[in-house]
Amino acid sequence: MTVSTIRQIKQQIGQLTNGESDNQLPSFWFTDWLLHVIDQPAIALMTDEDYQLTDSEVARFNDGVNKMQKGIPLAYLTGQQEFWSMSFKVNEHTLIPRPDTEVLVEQVLNWINAQPRQLSNKRLLDLGTGSGCIAISLAHELKQANWQIVAVDLSSEALKVAQHNAMSNNVANVDFVQSSWYQALPTNDEPQFDVIVSNPPYIDETDEHLAHLTAEPISALSAPNQGLADIEHIVQQATTYLCTGGLLAIEHGYDQGDAVRKLFLDSGFESVHTVKDYGDNDRVTLGQVQ
Ligand code: GLN
Repeated sequence: MTVSTIRQIKQQIGQLTNGESDNQLPSFWFTDWLLHVIDQPAIALMTDEDYQLTDSEVARFNDGVNKMQKGIPLAYLTGQQEFWSMSFKVNEHTLIPRPDTEVLVEQVLNWINAQPRQLSNKRLLDLGTGSGCIAISLAHELKQANWQIVAVDLSSEALKVAQHNAMSNNVANVDFVQSSWYQALPTNDEPQFDVIVSNPPYIDETDEHLAHLTAEPISALSAPNQGLADIEHIVQQATTYLCTGGLLAIEHGYDQGDAVRKLFLDSGFESVHTVKDYGDNDRVTLGQVQ
């Protein structure tokens, strides 16, 4: 039997997602993929159940289902992911933006808005920008206030995606630089940034969680030294690049809060604190340079 209406595909999705397995894929992956393939709004799932898929739509849908079952995330099939209410292109060279990373964006904006005086030198650095989601969301929010954002990544392929995303989201106040963390940035006499943010790789190389993340670039996910190697480097060098009173905000693993706060304190940061993500896990640590 050829499955060819939305009603029949919904039944097929029901069968795909009614198991008890641990690596069950969420059913919205299949319905979102269906809507992408047939280029219809979500309401069609309810109001247009008799919609007839063409043979090529059915073939494309099934091909995507096979890929998802083999571990390719939905976002790599559709080539896009929502973040901070904007649409970001993603591909296999970039991490797929996580909703929890919005906590980092939110915290940085809260800090900027709570400053008693206008910051003199409005520049923000995003280290390991990937798809550019953090830099571009902040650039969008800080456009009016004339902030200039510098976004770096080691991967030229990731930077191409990030540059595309800056254009498609109408954001012009971001400069993209290919660099291993701070390496390619000029070391001026004066520190250059009011804020440094990063969502670096932080998963321990032996963490079994990595086995479920095979499609994304390992260099964006995992780091040596219990996942802390890159965070340590970013924190220790940050004081060279941050203006007095400037903010460092870093995303990290749910069990790294203590270790990351210690790194901040050892480098002389003050007001060091950790904020939880939407799942109530430690996720972002912030501190101000003295
Ligand atoms: N938070 C992501 C995850 O655990 C990892 C992101 C990262 O390594 N920066 O799936």
